[in-house]
Amino acid sequence: MSTGWPPRAPADDRGIPLEGGKTLLKQYYAGARLESPQGGTLHLLRIRPEEDGSGTVLFECSVSSLRYELHVPKATRNDKKKVKDQQDEGRDPYCPRHCEPPEKLTRSGGHLVCALCGVRFGKPLG
Ligand SMILES: [Zn+2]
Repeated sequence: MSTGWPPRAPADDRGIPLEGGKTLLKQYYAGARLESPQGGTLHLLRIRPEEDGSGTVLFECSVSSLRYELHVPKATRNDKKKVKDQQDEGRDPYCPRHCEPPEKLTRSGGHLVCALCGVRFGKPLG
């Protein structure tokens, strides 16, 4: 008896959610090398902006080749204010979360998005 469609292979931009949220995020924002739960290091594969304004960072483990993803929470009021303040000063805003090296926000679909965390931080001026 047929069960219909064969099971779908997982989409290649999905990974296993990483545990240890806040600590990992801090390390990620600081540009530190992240350790894989498998003991290797995590190599950045790509960054995916989510529909709700948050982001997902996809990594591949150097040892197991398993893929992991880190969910980056959407912008807080404080984050947005920091971006707005930069705009008010007439500067091209940087991501309020990454410090070293600073990451300039890019325009995408009417939003200001950080290319390193995929998070939307507000709207471009003009
Ligand atoms: Zn960022």
